[in-house]
Formats: sequence, structure tokens, C-alpha cells
Amino acid sequence: YAKNQSQGAVQLFEPGMNEQRLRSQKMAVALQAAIEKDELVLHYQPIFHLGTGRIESLEALLRWQSPEFGRVCPLELIAVAEHHGLARALNEWVLYRACRQLRQWQLAGFGWLKINVNISPSIFMRGELAEAVGKALLVTGVGADALVLEITEDTSLWDTAGSIDTLHELRRLGVEIALDDFGTGYSSFSHLRQLPVNKLKIDKSFVADLSTDGRAVSLVKTIIDLARSLEMSVTAEGIEQAEQQQRLQQLGCELGQGYLLARPMPAEEVADWLVNDCPPYSESV
Ligand code: C2E
Ligand code: MG
Ligand code: MG
Ligand code: MG
Repeated sequence: YAKNQSQGAVQLFEPGMNEQRLRSQKMAVALQAAIEKDELVLHYQPIFHLGTGRIESLEALLRWQSPEFGRVCPLELIAVAEHHGLARALNEWVLYRACRQLRQWQLAGFGWLKINVNISPSIFMRGELAEAVGKALLVTGVGADALVLEITEDTSLWDTAGSIDTLHELRRLGVEIALDDFGTGYSSFSHLRQLPVNKLKIDKSFVADLSTDGRAVSLVKTIIDLARSLEMSVTAEGIEQAEQQQRLQQLGCELGQGYLLARPMPAEEVADWLVNDCPPYSESV
């Protein structure tokens, strides 16, 4: 019976797998065309100084409304790009688009503004990233100190000497590096000490538990203290409730982002936020 069951499971499972593989392949073809035709879009979510309410930076977040696949979740998009050799093209597209947009805002009077760009871990391991970033800064006219690269905690980062070299090169350029989704990965204290990273972003899962779970409070406090002892700045992501924001501020968290403060929004809407600094909350996804 067990044998039949497992055979049945295999039969049931395989068509699904093929379907998924097919979707991934079709999506890769469409994605490549979308990159070439400039059909992808970036939305921008402000990162605030929690103390003053002022905007520090904008995080660029990929959006793709595909005629064929509808609105595709950025994580799926990134995964498809990784599997089909498009990661580099996609990451470069994002980097250039984000830097060009930032330069426009800077020239429009917001010279102090920074931009946070997410970079896939696989790109870090390839080693040409520092060169590509240097070129993008030169071409777009953005200063290195206005660019923050966000990278998720990923085991592969620690295993490859090349990726640590890349981080060092980027820091020498003057670019800041933020460890994204911090607390969900595998970094140990010694890894953290070795990495030339200067910002930690507390994963939103910890922030979500802040209002209900005493242990989450201790955990977040530990991350904030850790960051401080390593002279890194801390950003909390996923702030949805005023109570979470208050807790974070009490614990000494400097920067924050989340739906409570502002949603990711198209570039056209960002200017209003910059001018008014903190206009009323508006839905704009
Ligand atoms: P992330 O970098 O950790 O980005 C934060 C995610 O949380 C975003 O999801 C954002 O829309 C969402 N978010 C912001 N505030 C809140 C909140 O208050 N509550 C909740 N529940 N969520 C909030 P999004 O845009 O779907 O992106 C998902 C992930 O995809 C990103 O996580 C990042 O890892 C990746 N990603 C997005 N854009 C890019 C990109 O241009 N390049 C690369 N390599 N990865 C990207
Ligand atoms: Mg991020
Ligand atoms: Mg994050
Ligand atoms: Mg996250």
C-alpha cells in the first residue's frame, strides 16, 4: 500500500513540477524581453529617521506587470532570473534605473537623498560587481555615499572569499552595505565581525512579533545592541503598527520603514513625500 501511495504521489507530483518548470521557462523568455523593452518598473519605499520623521533614503523594489503572467512577485522574478542566467542583466537594470532616478531627485533639490538597491547574493559572488557599480555611479552621476546596496544574509556569502573581497571593494568605493532580513539567515558573530557591512536591517518577522511577544522584544534589543557594538546602523522593516514603532524607538532603533509610515510607490508619487516630508498616509500599490 505504501508503495502504491508513493507511486501515486510521484505521478501526482510530476505534472505539477513540469508545469512549474514550464512557467519558469516561459517567464524567463518574457522577462528577458521585458528587460530589453524596459517594461519593468521600480517602486520606492521611504526609509525614515524614526526620531525626526525625516526621509533618509528610498528602497527600490522591483515591479513587473506582465501581459502574460499578471503581477509577478519580485522574489519569483529574481528566482527565475537566477535559474535562467538573467540575474546579472536584471540586477544591472535595477541598479541603473534606481541610480538615474535618484540623480533626478537629487537635481530637483533633494541632494541629500540616498537610494537602497537590493542585489541578489549570486551577483556578489561573481566578483565583477564592484566594477559594475563603479561604472553605474560614474554614468549616472550619483555619489558613492548616496548608494546603499542591500544583500540578504546567505550562507554562500561566507563561503566564498571572492564575495568578501567584493564587499571590501565596494566599501572602498564609498558605497554602504546593508545586511537585509537580518536574523533569518545564518550569520554568526564571527562572520559579522569579518564582513565589511555597515548597516543591519531587522527582518519584518521580528518587527511583527514586537507587540505580542516579549521574547521578540529581547531579540530585537539584542540585534540593536549588537549593531551598535559593531558600529553599524539599524533599520527596522515591516513597521505596520504605531506600537511597534514606539517599541523600536525605545530600543534605540534609528531608521525604519513599513506600511504604517509609507508604502512602496511609483516614482511620480515620491516627489510629494519629499516636498512635504511626511504627508498623510496614502495607499499606492
Ligand atoms: P526586502 O528587500 O526585504 O524588501 C522588503 C519587502 O517588504 C518588500 O516586498 C516590501 O514591499 C515589503 N514591505 C514593506 N513594508 C512592509 C510592511 O509594513 N509589511 C509587510 N508585510 N511588508 C512590507 P517586495 O517588494 O514584495 O519584495 C520582496 C523581496 O524581493 C525583497 O525583500 C527583496 O529581497 C526582493 N527584491 C525586490 N526588489 C528587488 C530588486 O530590485 N532586486 C533584487 N535582487 N531583489 C529584489
Ligand atoms: Mg531590501
Ligand atoms: Mg528586507
Ligand atoms: Mg525582508
